[in-house]
Amino acid sequence: MRSDKNCIFCRIVAGEIPSTKVFEDDSVLAFMDISPLTPGHLLVVPKEHFETIADMDPQLFGRLASTVCILAKATNRSLKPDGLNILQLNGKAGNQVVPHVHMHLVPRWNEDGLTI
Ligand code: 5GP
Repeated sequence: MRSDKNCIFCRIVAGEIPSTKVFEDDSVLAFMDISPLTPGHLLVVPKEHFETIADMDPQLFGRLASTVCILAKATNRSLKPDGLNILQLNGKAGNQVVPHVHMHLVPRWNEDGLTI
C-alpha cells in the first residue's frame, strides 16, 4: 500500500498523528476535521496515498463513496442537521490543501452563515 511519510493524512492513517476516528475498515478511514466548518465536519480518506481522485482505482473510490453515504445517514440520525454538503477538491487550482484524496462531509443548519 502506497504511503507518503510527509503526508499528514498518511500519518493519521498510520496512527503517528492523533485523530478522532469515527469509522475504519481495511481501505477507508473517517475522522473529525481538526478545523470543523460546522459541528460534525468529517473527512473520509482512502488509507492508501493518492493525491487526487483521478489517481484512484474506480472500485476503491466506490468504497470511499459508500462510506460517505453510510456516514451521511449516521450524521442525519445523530445530529439532525437541516442539510449536508459533500465536498471533494482536487489540485491546488481546485483549492485542495492536503494532497491526499479526501471527501468532506459538512452538516448544515439553516442560517449557519457558511458560504460554500
Ligand atoms: P482541503 O482544503 O485539502 O480539501 O481540506 C483539508 C482539510 O483537512 C481541512 O478541512 C483541514 O481542516 C483538515 N486538516 C488539516 N490538517 C489536519 C489534521 O492534522 N488533522 C485533521 N483531523 N484534519 C486536518
